[in-house]
Amino acid sequence: MSLIDRADVVIIGAGAAGTGAARHLSGSGLNTVLLEALPRAGGRSWTRTMGGTTVDLGCGWLHSGDRNPWTRIAGELGFVVDRRQSAWQVQFRDLGFSPSERAEANDAFERWNDRVANDPPATDIAADALDLAGEWTAYLQALSGFISGDELERISCRDYAAYDQASTDNNWRVPAGYGTLVSAAMPADVPVHLSTSVKSIELDGSRIVLRTPSGTLRARAVIVTASTNVIAGDAIRWPSALDAWRDAARRLPLGSNEKLFLEIVGSSPFEDESHLLGNPRDASTGSYYIRPFGQPVIECFLGGAGARVVAEHGTDVGFVRAIDQLATLFGNDIRRNLRPLIASDWTRTPSIGGAYSHALPGQADARSVLAQPYDNRLFFAGEATHRTDFSTAHGAFQSGVRAANEAMAALAD
Ligand SMILES: Cc1cc2nc3c(=O)[nH]c(=O)nc-3n(C[C@H](O)[C@H](O)[C@H](O)COP(=O)(O)OP(=O)(O)OC[C@H]3O[C@@H](n4cnc5c(N)ncnc54)[C@H](O)[C@@H]3O)c2cc1C
Repeated sequence: MSLIDRADVVIIGAGAAGTGAARHLSGSGLNTVLLEALPRAGGRSWTRTMGGTTVDLGCGWLHSGDRNPWTRIAGELGFVVDRRQSAWQVQFRDLGFSPSERAEANDAFERWNDRVANDPPATDIAADALDLAGEWTAYLQALSGFISGDELERISCRDYAAYDQASTDNNWRVPAGYGTLVSAAMPADVPVHLSTSVKSIELDGSRIVLRTPSGTLRARAVIVTASTNVIAGDAIRWPSALDAWRDAARRLPLGSNEKLFLEIVGSSPFEDESHLLGNPRDASTGSYYIRPFGQPVIECFLGGAGARVVAEHGTDVGFVRAIDQLATLFGNDIRRNLRPLIASDWTRTPSIGGAYSHALPGQADARSVLAQPYDNRLFFAGEATHRTDFSTAHGAFQSGVRAANEAMAALAD
């Protein structure tokens, strides 16, 4: 598809932030165009259905569901929202993690969480809030991998606490898939050009010139929603005036998180809506969500060190490790019941480059720097620009609405 060569507003990226911006600009009278590098919309929201089984390779949980704008949009678009509590606190049949060990590990987490919020170390390094020689350090590193995608040594206490204090702990789901919901929410009147990667952003008088392999676009305003690893990387050529934004993106790197899905075949002990932490003493452990919505599948969630193994050695190695871990808990016969189904590959997807952003120690303020408009014509959205709801699809959506508002106000001037 060739591009029209002029637009009032161009949105770069069709993820949750780009969708939020497009919905807000829809019907505004501004000629808006959306450019997306991937051959599909949704970005880090991506639902796949195979043989009747529906899984989310990216976001799956409507965190803070009671105040999450996607809950409202789901209602408007006729999607069912499942409001049951997640099974994360369940350890299926207490396998490999007894109730007393769980209580101890949870106490260690609460002590760490309390220090991070109320008595943070001067270094702002989340690892410096750990118990000295604590028995549950590997467990807390595993949780850090799931929550932030990286080790506690690289996490800012102030950034982590800002999210934690704003979150409501209501984690809901859409059985049709979070990715399906995000894609369905794209307004019909904003043209979306898929497989159209922006290669350079140039400032030309009062206009912004975007070059893509399908043509060149001149815009009055541009909303950038690409991830921090993309903004900091070399895939797009930026004007030097944007150096401070790219520097802020570098201070908010994406962590590593991947999901591997195992199909359950034959008769097996796995029960609907149950959960297992593979090995609470291994920082690279998988977290296994068993038979979500009663489907014959196990979602293995990896974070930090565990996810980096997949990025470095490939998904086949990830599947072998996940099946080995389950065989340790259930016995070798369980291997007959498990088949690799599908896996994410976020870190190696060039237009994404990782999972979700976290601030490095001392760098929580970088979120506000990244969220600043440049010269009232270049606006930044995306999960990393949200001060409290970063790393989520609802934070991304809200950032898109915020950037669209800024662009509309600037163009009205
Ligand atoms: C494994 C995993 C699990 C997660 N779980 C949850 C969860 O349960 N709940 C939750 O709320 N969040 C979760 N998240 C985080 C959530 O998915 C993201 O925070 C959110 O989707 C980010 O949206 P975004 O619009 O900011 O960025 P993106 O979704 O990355 O959208 C940006 C878009 O820009 C495009 N783009 C980049 N460069 C260019 C270019 N040069 N030209 C054109 N287009 C470009 C990209 O292809 C992409 O589609 C998870 C993420 C991962 C990876």
